[in-house]
This record gives sequence, structure tokens and C-alpha cells, in this order.
Amino acid sequence: MSLQLTSDGRLRHLLTLDGLPRETMTRLLDRAGQIRDAALGRTHKRDSLFGTTLCTLFFEPSTRTRSSFQIAAQRLGADVLNFDASTSSARKGETALDTLKNLEAMGVRGFIVRHPDNGAADALAAHCGEDTTIINAGDGRSAHPTQGLLDALTIRQAKGPDFSRLKILITGDVRHSRVARSDLHALRALGAGEIRVCGPQSLLPDDDMLKGCIVGDDFDEMLKGADVLMMLRLQRERMEEGLISSLDDYHRDYGLTAARLKHAAPDAVVMHPGPINRGVEMTDEVADGPQSLVLRQVSNGVAIRMAVLEALLG
Ligand code: ASP
Repeated sequence: MSLQLTSDGRLRHLLTLDGLPRETMTRLLDRAGQIRDAALGRTHKRDSLFGTTLCTLFFEPSTRTRSSFQIAAQRLGADVLNFDASTSSARKGETALDTLKNLEAMGVRGFIVRHPDNGAADALAAHCGEDTTIINAGDGRSAHPTQGLLDALTIRQAKGPDFSRLKILITGDVRHSRVARSDLHALRALGAGEIRVCGPQSLLPDDDMLKGCIVGDDFDEMLKGADVLMMLRLQRERMEEGLISSLDDYHRDYGLTAARLKHAAPDAVVMHPGPINRGVEMTDEVADGPQSLVLRQVSNGVAIRMAVLEALLG
């Protein structure tokens, strides 16, 4: 039984894109596309979440995800409490569930949760109150569903709705990346034509997450003719020692440079979920260049998060 869908198929929490029906995904993308201008602040605030209190419950650092959820919630008229684990009783050992229960008792209705443990958002969803909604904003290496959605929206805006024509290359630390997992779920659901995955063997996953993908460790080969290049950050906080020899070696073999980019399709686009290790995953020239959609991903993040909040709590 899915924790995130009700028996009549309504979205109750957003925990993962794994198993999320294509129609639900498309509806969220369509809605985000419609409200993009509002998301970017060019139209008046809405009030669909007026009177609702939300909490960003973050046990790991964040810049984009947390700020964009906060902006999205405020654009919809909600009140937002930013819970910071580093200055809270979490430091005294209070668990995430106890923290949630206490905030529920204060009337918080929606929790946007980031946690270093796989499955943390699911565990909270399994034990929260009946009227409480949980949104996973990244748990360990498992899932980052709103990132998967905003990446899909960014590709759709750049390349059109027919994903079956596209060759999409995901490169880097796939093993530790929740973004890669959620992207793969979204891309498969939306019918991506060819998904290529590239990285050093030590950074490729050891489970079946890459089923159906073309997998390789030769970046120059994998780049050829690709339409969308999704670069991933090296997740050093989740890595055991010794998985890569050095950052210079990594950049030499897997860093996206302007010269390398020429081997992709002429109108290829470059994406990265941020934060970018400049000079490691890609050069400044590529990150800030005309083919980069990195900041477009960030603005789409607000629109997607508005659409998700509205669907779950509006
Ligand atoms: N910001 C994304 C995440 O939290 C990507 C990253 O940190 O590399 O997963």
C-alpha cells in the first residue's frame, strides 16, 4: 500500500516519484507551468493556503530547496516556520518524530522534511496525525521528489513535451544521489527515449536503480549526441574514503568543459541541481554559459513547489 496515495488515488503526502502515476506528475507539471509567473512574483499573492501553518523541518543544510519552499508557501498565503535542527532540541537528542508531534500540537499542518537518513520522511508520514501532510525534501540518498519534478519541468520547457525523442545523460556521483533516483523515476514515467548514466564505477549504484539505462564510465563516449546533460554534485558528505582518487582526476575524466560540450547535440542543455562544485563537475564557462539551465531549474523549483503545496494542502 502506498503511503502517499489515498485509496482513491489522491496525493496525501509527497515522499517519492517511484510509482507516482504519470497523470499525477503531468498534472503537477502543467500546474507549475501555469503558475510560473506567480511563482516568480510578477502577480499578486494567492490565498489558497491562507490560515495554514507549514514547517520546513530540516536536519541537513539547504539553500535552494528550503528557500524555494518558503517562497512558494508564502506566495500561497501560508505561514511558514523554519525549524533549524542545529539550534533546536534536536541537539539535545529529541527525535524527528517527537519534534514533529510537538509542532503538530502547535497547529502545524504540513511538514517539508529533509533528513540524512533514507526513509526518514516515510517514517514520519507513517506516524503523523491524520490531518498532517509530509513532503520529502530529500532523505539520505533515497529521494528528492520535487527536484525530480522541477528537472522534468525544465526539460519539458526546453525540449517540448515529447520525451521519447530525447537522449538524456546523467553524470557523476549517481550512487549517493537522491536527485538521480528521483530524476530517473520522473524520466521513465514521462517516457524518456534514452537514458544514459555515466560515472566512475565506484560512484555507480550497486542496486537495480539503473535498470533499462545505458551505463558507462567513458564520459566522452557517453556525451556524443546527448540532448540533455544532467550533472551531479560529488556527495562527499555521504561518501566513504577513497571512492575517487582526487578532484583533479575526477574533473579530468568527468568534468564538463566547453570543449567537451561540443560533442553533445548542438542544442544540448546543461543542468545541475546545485550546489555546484565549480571546476569539478563543470567549469564556470559551462555553468554560466548559454546552454546552462541551472538558474532556470531554480526558478522552476518555486513553481513546482507551489503546485505541490496547492495539490496537497490547498
Ligand atoms: N541539493 C540537492 C540535494 O539536496 C543536490 C545536492 O546536494 O547535490 O540532494
